[in-house]
Amino acid sequence: MPIPKVRCPQCGKTVEYLVSNPNRPFCSERCKMIDLGAWASDQYAIAGKSQEADDTLELTPDEAMPFDAVLPSKPQ
Ligand SMILES: [Zn+2]
Repeated sequence: MPIPKVRCPQCGKTVEYLVSNPNRPFCSERCKMIDLGAWASDQYAIAGKSQEADDTLELTPDEAMPFDAVLPSKPQ
């Protein structure tokens, strides 16, 4: 049974449309987040809300950690 393939809406790369792929129809989580981020920005800009943006930040601890590591530790 052939695996259906779709094009990533973000980068146009051909990706296998697997049910087990949580990022479908995107090729990767990166493309998914970029697309969702762009969509959310438009939506929240219209709605005038900023609360949801905080939730998005919490979803990416990997990006927050290196940023945190760069910060110098404050002396007591
Ligand atoms: Zn992609």
